[in-house]
Formats: sequence, structure tokens, C-alpha cells
Amino acid sequence: MTKPAYKTMGQQFGRRSWAEPWKIKMVEPIRIPGRGQRKKALIEAGYNTFLLPSEDVYIDLLTDSGTSAMSDRQWAGIMLGDEAYAGSRNFYHLEKAVQQYYGYRYVVPTHQGRGAEHMISQQCITKGQFVPGNMYFTTTRLHQELAGGSFVDVIIGQAHDPTNLHPFKGDVDLDKLEYLIKKEGAEKIAYVSLAGTVNMAGGQPVSMANVKALRILCNKYGVKIYLDATRMAENAYFIQQREEGYADKSVADILKEFCSYTDGAWMSAKKDHLVNIGGWIAVNSYDLFDALRNMVVVFEGLHTYGGMAGRDMEALSIGIAESVQDDHIHARVMQVQYLGELLIDWGIPIMRPVGGHAIFLDAKCFYPHISQDEFPAQTLAAELYLDSGVRSMERGIVSAGRDPATGDHRRPALELTRLAIPRRVYTQAHMDVVAEAIKAVFDKREQTRGLKMVYEPKVLRFFQARFEPLS
Ligand SMILES: *Cc1c(COP(=O)(O)O)cnc(C)c1O
Repeated sequence: MTKPAYKTMGQQFGRRSWAEPWKIKMVEPIRIPGRGQRKKALIEAGYNTFLLPSEDVYIDLLTDSGTSAMSDRQWAGIMLGDEAYAGSRNFYHLEKAVQQYYGYRYVVPTHQGRGAEHMISQQCITKGQFVPGNMYFTTTRLHQELAGGSFVDVIIGQAHDPTNLHPFKGDVDLDKLEYLIKKEGAEKIAYVSLAGTVNMAGGQPVSMANVKALRILCNKYGVKIYLDATRMAENAYFIQQREEGYADKSVADILKEFCSYTDGAWMSAKKDHLVNIGGWIAVNSYDLFDALRNMVVVFEGLHTYGGMAGRDMEALSIGIAESVQDDHIHARVMQVQYLGELLIDWGIPIMRPVGGHAIFLDAKCFYPHISQDEFPAQTLAAELYLDSGVRSMERGIVSAGRDPATGDHRRPALELTRLAIPRRVYTQAHMDVVAEAIKAVFDKREQTRGLKMVYEPKVLRFFQARFEPLS
């Protein structure tokens, strides 16, 4: 195993063991269904983990979105909901928390991340403009396209290589960006759509040096930078761990400095902010704020609730403060690293370096004998569920869909099975069980056969497609 360029758990603490910085006050029982029941459930779900009832799942790593555990303080906040239609006190708490921790001037609440993406795209993109960004995200790109924009990927090349150990694989390739600006003209660039960490690249961070240089470049051409801040607390933690000059700064300070190089941000609070639903958009320009505030009443709700209940906004404002506490974010990211390091030690092929929110198994390496048209990543997700009741999801040829022009499968370079870790939900013992389940599936990989698709929806097929084993 190559030594990571950043501090390992042992180096951090000067000892081997590590523990979650919380104790459990309320439990939700889970049970592992018997093998017969798992087999039956998998057949009924057409070998698609999205179609499994959650009751039949033991450890659920389908997504880290809206699945985190709230703290006792957040639950107490739920009881302090002020459900006034206008001017709820909880909105002012939320506004203050975003201003304090992210540093932007004006805040508009939304029901979740895509509500905010819809508004920023409609306000800041005119038809025919380009939106360069550090790798696409599904809902982000869709809203940019619906507004008439074209997304252009300007992430560094290393991000596309699952074995490259670059510490900041989320960085923008500034040459690629400047080339685009010069070629198309600055007036054709809507804004730079920057995300930290980069979800589709495996949760990879952006460095402070990169965002600083990006600001200078964008100032030269008068281009704005808007940030997808969904996992920016995790990104700030990676900066603290890996970037020269930040080891002694708090995650909260790093987060605020990073945001200061951008013009605004949108947020899916279902991720970093430790709530089950919610979002916001925040900007420094009064004119843009005014436009967003006029728009939010049409699509989300009044500008002092934006689709959230008062109690949700209270839990969210408390979650924002908790999300940047060093011990919390350390435990969150280190739990993901812990699982990743176990798998690397056992020679199981995963995407590297390990990102902030999920482990991605490299299904092409896992099953070299299963061709991509026989859905290796889908097969792996199904096998893992069958072995242990652990739920993961496919991020490969099924998710990529078909080319609208030729009707053929899009064949992405990366054929991955994702295990996303919810925040504060599972313990290290659960991670051990997951690692051992993956190992068990890995050990019998040579006997495993692929799948055939027997039902295929026209759009976003990965959600509802059905499969059968190849005989
Ligand atoms: C989840 C997510 C979104 C969309 O947010 P929702 O709350 O699911 O609407 C946007 N960007 C990133 C990076 C995400 O992970």
C-alpha cells in the first residue's frame, strides 16, 4: 500500500484506535434478512438495488443524501419550529448561520439542492451560453441545460483516472478554462460552476490554491464563480489535512476563506448539513438576490421558508454549525477512509484516493471476465446485497444511459459500484461488516456471471430498470 501524502488516523491521534465523537441516545433496530429472503427480495427487485424495500436492507449505503442522523440539539430544534407563514424566527437563524459560516451576504431558502440549482441556472444563464465546471453533476447539469446553457467539463485530467493519487483531483484545469473563455469570448461564459467536493469524481476535493488562482483568472475576464457547496465542509477538511499552510486552521475558517473567492453558492442541505431535507442559495450581489427572492415565491415558497417547515429550518441552522466542527468532520471523513483502507489492504480494486463521502468499487477490475454490456457494476451491487444485505448502487453503463443520436449504450470509462456512507448513522463495526461482505463477494468473483436487462425505462433508467442473471 502506498503511503498517503496526508496524515493517517494513527498519526493524527498518536495511537491506533479511533472512535466516533458521539454516543447513541436513541436506536433504530435493523435486522439482516435471511439468505432465502434476500434472494427473493432481489428477484422481486429485478436485481436493481433501487427497487428493494428498505425493510429488506441491513446496512443501507445507497446514498448519503437525507440519510444522516440528527443530533439531540437538532431534534430539540424541531420542537422550536415557528410555523408562521411569513418571517418565521427559524428563517432568521438559518440566514444567520449561512452568513456566519459561509460568509455570503444574502440567503434564500429552498426545499432542497435542485430547487436552488433551478433558480441560479434560470437567473444566470442565457440561451447559448457555456457553463464550465469541475465535472458535471446530474441535477446541476440538467438545470443548466434547461436554462439553455451547455456544460463544459474543465476538471483536471487526473480526475478521470481511478488509480491516480493526486491529492486534489477536484481542481479546475485553468488552462482548459482560459482556452474556453478565449475561444468563445467572456460574454459567452455564464459563470464557472465550481463544486467541492466533486461527487461524480468520487468525492475528490478542490485545493485552496486552485480556487485562489481561479478567482484571479475569472477577475481578468469578468466571469463569476458560483459554488455547489453541498460537500464543502468535507472539502475544507481535506484542505486542512493535505494543503500546505492549513494544518493549524479550523475547518470553519477554511470553509469561509474558500467561499470568499466565490460570488455565491447553492446547497443541498441533505448532505453536509445533517438534515433529512432542505437547501439554500446565497449570493453577494443584491440585484441577483432580489431576482432570486422574486423567483423563489413562484417555485418553492415564500422567501422566508422556501419549501421548508419552520422546524426544518431550525434543525438545519443547528446542523450547519455542527457540520464544521473539527471532531465531527474528522470522524465523518475518517470513517470513509477507514473502510477504504481496509479494502485497499485486501487488494480490492477501489477508486483512489478515497473521497469524502463514499467508496467506489472498480467493477471492471473486480469482474474482468464480465463485459460492460453484461453490467459488471450492477452485478456487483446485486451480489453484495445477496451476500450480506448491504445496499449499494450502480454508477456505470446503466447510469450513463443511451446516446440519443445512435440509441446505443453510452460506455463510460468508469464502471463503479458506490457505497455512500450516511453521516453519524453507522459505527466502525458496521464498516467492518461491510468490508468483510465485499471481501466475500471478491473471493468468489470468478464464479460470478453478469446480468441481462429485461426492462428498460426511457429516461434515468438506473432507477427502475430490471435485470435477470445470465444463465
Ligand atoms: C445531491 C446533490 C445535488 C442536488 O441536491 P438535492 O438536494 O438532491 O436536490 C446537487 N449537487 C450535488 C453535488 C449533490 O450531491
